[in-house]
Amino acid sequence: MRIFDPHIHMTSRTTDDYARMSAAGVLAVVEPAFWLGQPRTNPGSFADYFDSLIGWEPYRAAQFGIAHHATIALNPKEANDPRCRPVLDLLPRYLDKDRVVAVGEIGYDSMTPEEDDAFERQLALAVEHELPALVHTPHRDKARGTRRTLEVVAASGIEPGRVAVDHLNEVTVGLVHDSGCWMGFSIYPQTKMSPPRMVEILRTHGLERVLINSAADWGVSDPLLTLETAEAMLAAGFTDDDVDRVLWRNPVEFYGQSGRLDLTDVTGATEPTFAGSSIKRGGE
Ligand SMILES: [Zn+2]
Repeated sequence: MRIFDPHIHMTSRTTDDYARMSAAGVLAVVEPAFWLGQPRTNPGSFADYFDSLIGWEPYRAAQFGIAHHATIALNPKEANDPRCRPVLDLLPRYLDKDRVVAVGEIGYDSMTPEEDDAFERQLALAVEHELPALVHTPHRDKARGTRRTLEVVAASGIEPGRVAVDHLNEVTVGLVHDSGCWMGFSIYPQTKMSPPRMVEILRTHGLERVLINSAADWGVSDPLLTLETAEAMLAAGFTDDDVDRVLWRNPVEFYGQSGRLDLTDVTGATEPTFAGSSIKRGGE
């Protein structure tokens, strides 16, 4: 079994996690930029973090045979802090980097006017840089937050097929399914989505445009819940090919739209994998 975790915060994990992931068949990850727990106080703090996401962390991952890519953004929570907002001016420089495969995580935390502004500006950056967008949905008032998210996405002019709306559950999956956007699910040990609930969602809504991640970070989370979900799928009668589609080919297709997904080292392919793209046009 080969697994691609499309949303995991390896910065907050140890080498033990990389070793366990590698042994479980995780060959590729995408690490979205997010907050650090402790509030940042200036844009330079973001610059160091972004550099680490595209330099140090891929190096760490490679030691365990895992391909690492990143998404770059001002996260929704810190979009509310006037000390952090100037980072929006730094983003274009990072969005041109090789291992950056989307703009994200963007979206809503508390649905403030400041978050509206940062979300709209960063969707525009995704269009301008021809990158997909990874959109976080709020943990409180999820249905309203998801509806609002989809309205802003539609107004931005970005193609729905280039947007993943993440942290969905039974209440919000239908809305995103109908929008044409990709549906992201974060599987957690105790709260939110569990492997058995995920299997039920796959039975109801199918495998198309579905991304399953562990979203592992500093909180109680588990990088191997992707594997556990795969095992729950097989136990429920899904085939090996179904599992491969959801846990490998779907994330390859979604992030492949960046034209920058390079899985050469982990798949043994002789050419980079730019699946499902719309290869990024040079020099525009
Ligand atoms: Zn996250």
